[in-house]
Amino acid sequence: MRLTVLLWLGPLWSLVLSPWLHASPLDYALTPIAIADNVWLLEGKQEAFSRLNGGNIVNTGFILTPAGVVVIDTGPSVRYGKAMRKVIASLTDKPVVLVLNTHHHPDHVLGNLAFAEEAPIAALPATLQQLEQEGDAVAETLYTLVGDWMRDTQVQLPNQTLGPDSLNTGIEIGGQRLRLLALRGHSGADLAILHEPSGTLFAGDLVFHQRALTTPHTPGLALWQQELGLLARQPFNQLVPGHGPLSQGTAAIEQTQAYLGWLDQLLQQAAQAGLSMTEAMQLPIPAHFNGIALSRYELQRSVAHLYNQYEQQAFAEPSSTSAQASSTTKE
Ligand SMILES: [Zn+2]
Repeated sequence: MRLTVLLWLGPLWSLVLSPWLHASPLDYALTPIAIADNVWLLEGKQEAFSRLNGGNIVNTGFILTPAGVVVIDTGPSVRYGKAMRKVIASLTDKPVVLVLNTHHHPDHVLGNLAFAEEAPIAALPATLQQLEQEGDAVAETLYTLVGDWMRDTQVQLPNQTLGPDSLNTGIEIGGQRLRLLALRGHSGADLAILHEPSGTLFAGDLVFHQRALTTPHTPGLALWQQELGLLARQPFNQLVPGHGPLSQGTAAIEQTQAYLGWLDQLLQQAAQAGLSMTEAMQLPIPAHFNGIALSRYELQRSVAHLYNQYEQQAFAEPSSTSAQASSTTKE
């Protein structure tokens, strides 16, 4: 049957097949950016997951120390993890000695398998639990969204958890101290890492920059806001957000705070006004957020994730919710 079709197409068949014959191999083409002495960033695209980007919408990083390399997040697939490992090998002969997962979202951890034989993979205890419970399901979703880029990818669980000792005192590797902060606002278990020698804060998805934030597992926007205040008080001079470009000083934190404040108020007011989910998804986005990629797309997702809670709150406590909304406005 297929042969018949090809014969029927005559010379046209090569045009029909050319996308497959000439398809470029799936290559993330990772380009390391030196953001400080010994500190490197692999910056993802400010896009949603697609078959074109293979899920490379996330920032990962690594730190070179005399004792070996510390990897921070491993990307969306084993293919990404292997590509990241190659980039590291092009810069140092030293082994990877530690992988840190900032949180359980698939674009941050599904490259773990590429490092599993070489180094311990550490995360917050709750991140391990979340991956045990939801890892396979979220990996499957990513397979659906980005396709063949995910081939051979499996959830590789962290094999170390960061206990109170490391969280209180930080860890030191090759004479370089990493301060570790256990927070919850974005995903329920979020690790932020401050590389003290360079003043670089890896904020994971607690901070988004020039890219709309995502809310599928947030325990609440108010808690997230509080934790951003805590992050802002850390002694850093530059910040690697989970998504979007490197930020100097607290600029990206301030943008995330402003965006969260707007989103929280928008959802409260929409719920109090009795808008439907579909209506809330279509509410205007302020012009000063125009530079933030995917804001409409993520507003729609956030309404889907969070609106029920806001509706219940508006229904249960109409007056106190209203007081809260007006106090938010004053702040
Ligand atoms: Zn995330």
